[in-house]
Amino acid sequence: MSESTLRIGLVLPDVMGTYGDGGNALVLRQRALMRGIDAEIVQITLDDEVPDSLDVYTLGGAEDYAQRLATRHLTRYPGLQRAAAAGRPVLAICAAIQVLGHWYETSAGERVEGISLFDLTTAPQATRSIGELVTEPAVDGLQAPLSGFENHRGGTTLGSDARPLARVRHGVGNGVGDGTEGVIQGTALGTYMHGPALARNPELADHLLQRAMGVDSLSPLHLPQVERLRKERLAAGRRG
Ligand code: GLN
Repeated sequence: MSESTLRIGLVLPDVMGTYGDGGNALVLRQRALMRGIDAEIVQITLDDEVPDSLDVYTLGGAEDYAQRLATRHLTRYPGLQRAAAAGRPVLAICAAIQVLGHWYETSAGERVEGISLFDLTTAPQATRSIGELVTEPAVDGLQAPLSGFENHRGGTTLGSDARPLARVRHGVGNGVGDGTEGVIQGTALGTYMHGPALARNPELADHLLQRAMGVDSLSPLHLPQVERLRKERLAAGRRG
């Protein structure tokens, strides 16, 4: 590994990573490598302390029990909290949004303290939200609609320090009736989109890469297959 290698943290893939969310780290690495930027994935498991020195962090979704194990580990080793406070970008998918909030309630009605990296709370809703999600991003520098697959029972209420990542066009999103999807706070962002989200939304991947590298733009990548799949998935989302 050279000094300039971009280090991508894949946080707790042993317990958080439903629907191939670990693929988000692969997409970041691949889009860096295709531009000649050296990049590597650093896996942080339940056997490891969480380092605060990586360039970008990704966390996947999980079922209630796995989510609890992750919460306990991130509380015990607060490297992610230090990294986010230092401005490193973080991508949190589904259950990870909930773990990174102040607290979440499990389907069994138990309240679990989160790590308060996001100003939000999550409580189970009457029905589970499952299906295609299409949204309009509400973040500077992102224009194209976002799409993903959601499957969660939790509904997330954002506090005043957190902003939504997007407005819902189709699907449920945060699920508390305000039409919001996901969260952005400082350089950390969260979304209910599985997919993996970055394979389906290359603009979002490049947004994270730019932040990780501290640059305003990246050379464009021309990947017609990715564009075609994107269009198909957006159309599928609109059909429902
Ligand atoms: N257990 C959480 C919920 O149902 C998260 C699920 C997930 O990550 N897909 O809300």
